[in-house]
Amino acid sequence: MHTGARAARPGSLTSLRAANHARVLAVLQASGARTQAELARATGLAQSTVSNIVRELAGSGAVSVNRVRRDGRTAQVVRLSRSVGLLAGIDVGHRHLTVGLADATYEILAHERIPLDADHRAGDCLAEAGRLLDTLVDRIGAARDEVIGIGMGLPAPIDSRTGEVGAPSILPGWVGVDAAALAGKSLGVAVEVDNDANLGALAEARWGAGRGARILAYLKLSDGVGAGLVVDGLLHRGPAGTAGEIGHTTIEEFGAVCRCGNRGCLETLVSTGAVLDLLVPRHGPHLTIADVVARARSGDAGCLRVLADTGRHIGIGVANLCNVFNPDRIVLGGELAGAGDLVVEPLHGALQRYGIPSAVRAVDIVIAALGDRSHLLGAVALGGQVAGQVIASFAGDLNPGEPDLQAMKD
Ligand SMILES: [Zn+2]
Repeated sequence: MHTGARAARPGSLTSLRAANHARVLAVLQASGARTQAELARATGLAQSTVSNIVRELAGSGAVSVNRVRRDGRTAQVVRLSRSVGLLAGIDVGHRHLTVGLADATYEILAHERIPLDADHRAGDCLAEAGRLLDTLVDRIGAARDEVIGIGMGLPAPIDSRTGEVGAPSILPGWVGVDAAALAGKSLGVAVEVDNDANLGALAEARWGAGRGARILAYLKLSDGVGAGLVVDGLLHRGPAGTAGEIGHTTIEEFGAVCRCGNRGCLETLVSTGAVLDLLVPRHGPHLTIADVVARARSGDAGCLRVLADTGRHIGIGVANLCNVFNPDRIVLGGELAGAGDLVVEPLHGALQRYGIPSAVRAVDIVIAALGDRSHLLGAVALGGQVAGQVIASFAGDLNPGEPDLQAMKD
């Protein structure tokens, strides 16, 4: 028996067979447990082929098969084994670092969040992430080398040509750094990096308020303001990674100077910092967005007014987004989404005023369903994409070199 499966020519018997195995593994990775009939439907393979593939994958330890009663009948439920490996997600925020550990089907097994200085250096942050990862791996009784893919989110555009973290970023210690390369070296596992709004979009599209939308925009309303754009399940990033940088669209030509160097950007008007700056003189330096929302709900006129103005300004940005991108759903996430109707109602007012009527009619505006977990879940999803190649390699390891005539019949 020879061992040239991974080098098999495209279209050869071996590569077709490995591709069918990889299809089954990919469906299990994306969707968790599935019956053999569901696997056949999802992959388009014949039931008999799926049954052969599952038997071989179970033999190699890649999947486990359990009999369960469903709708009065017995079904064989297939799921990826823990032995396939673990995924990790790292969410670097303005003032926090969150690390999560999940199994290969994206179920979060453990997570931890610590405060972080906004002026930290990239290397120090990654060393901290590595320590957290060790703690989490220990906590679930696993070993560090079981982690096969890591996704990381940063509040900055990532240039897809060079991998460099671009400006404007609210984390100056990362600008110009090839974050994926540095993180891979520091953590010893392949790491994929993306903008945190993109990861929020990915998670909401897959598991949250974006499910079922075809053209989706996720708006992150937080210390920074940005959008993640998803078309038919895939992120639209643009070559420089700046697609969706709605926070730096101009609202007031001679407004406040923004961290990007421009003036009057949307972010200078609606970031959590901008909202708090307006209210701190009256309510003191320890005011939080949650306090502002609570005070507004109990009738504080100043807090109500500031949230209404914020919603109106976001509405101008959303109208521009609708006119240009024509999404069928916009998901509002980040701390300010917690203000709910206090921001959403004035947002709709501005949207009616500035949006093209047909684009406005086509869009549903909803609040994110995953809350502050969305960026971490998106990072884990990205880790799953990295690990997908490792998981697919299980398909190539099975009896390499042996043609699969059964699969050829499909
Ligand atoms: Zn700006």
